[in-house]
Amino acid sequence: MSYIGRFAPSPTGPLHFGSLLAALASFLDARANQGQWLLRIEDLDPPREQPGVKEEFPEILEAFGLYWDDELSLQSERLDLYQNVLDQLQQQHHAYPCSCSRKQIMERCENMVYDRHCLYHPPAADQNCAIRIKAEDSLISFRDIIQGPHAYNLKQSGDFVAYRRDGLFAYQLAVVVDDYLQGITHVVRGSDLLDETARQIHLQQLLGYPTPAYAHIPVATNSEGQKLSKQTYAPALDTTEPVKLLYQALQFLDQQPPAGLLHASRDELLQWAIAHWNLRQIRNTPGKPLSEG
Ligand code: GLU
Ligand code: ZN
Repeated sequence: MSYIGRFAPSPTGPLHFGSLLAALASFLDARANQGQWLLRIEDLDPPREQPGVKEEFPEILEAFGLYWDDELSLQSERLDLYQNVLDQLQQQHHAYPCSCSRKQIMERCENMVYDRHCLYHPPAADQNCAIRIKAEDSLISFRDIIQGPHAYNLKQSGDFVAYRRDGLFAYQLAVVVDDYLQGITHVVRGSDLLDETARQIHLQQLLGYPTPAYAHIPVATNSEGQKLSKQTYAPALDTTEPVKLLYQALQFLDQQPPAGLLHASRDELLQWAIAHWNLRQIRNTPGKPLSEG
């Protein structure tokens, strides 16, 4: 089997323990399957980017011994590719322009589920428009390798944005295009993206792309039950003690590393982890506190 996995951080803040979990799990799964592992920086949203952060991603991953294959890719350098796909979706009537503001949608639409106003009343060409993908009333079901069977009706969230009114491509479009063009066969990432997966599968189906295998690992939460993220002030990864953090990450991922590994070198620990990696050992909970290990 040929296997291509990836780690795809957004530079909205420094990498934290939750990022290490996604990086390590996707890396180990690729290496344990003799696969390739790519690094893709999802820098699609300059206003939300924290300056200087993405430049540090490569050295941080190297400090943890997580070396990627090929050149790292930057979404900011691939905008033409996203534009081509967006044009294709519009030509095939899978997508349409929408000039509604957030405020208008809030006033008109229940739970922010878009009412298709602009599909039936196309906006004038000179307006700033988002491009929305038609999400039919259809149930997308898939089997996640960790979380098990998952079903999501696209009408729950409605027609979703592939291109924003402020002139930026949306994550949903770029991730689907890149996973396809980079030949990704396995996506291992945090379970906060589980519901996004259904919309990604829908886009893949509209575009005739294959659907990769998905494995959503539990996200680490703080003691208040909030996902570790920039918004919850998760501390940036400390690269001075890679063995300790890698060990904690293996514990969190239910790989049961022997205590002796704490005194091993970083590369010995990673060798052990590749040799013993078992994705199916990861408990299927969407999230758990960090202290539980
Ligand atoms: N860039 C996304 C994030 O940092 C992850 C995308 C993905 O793995 O599909 O949350
Ligand atoms: Zn609209």
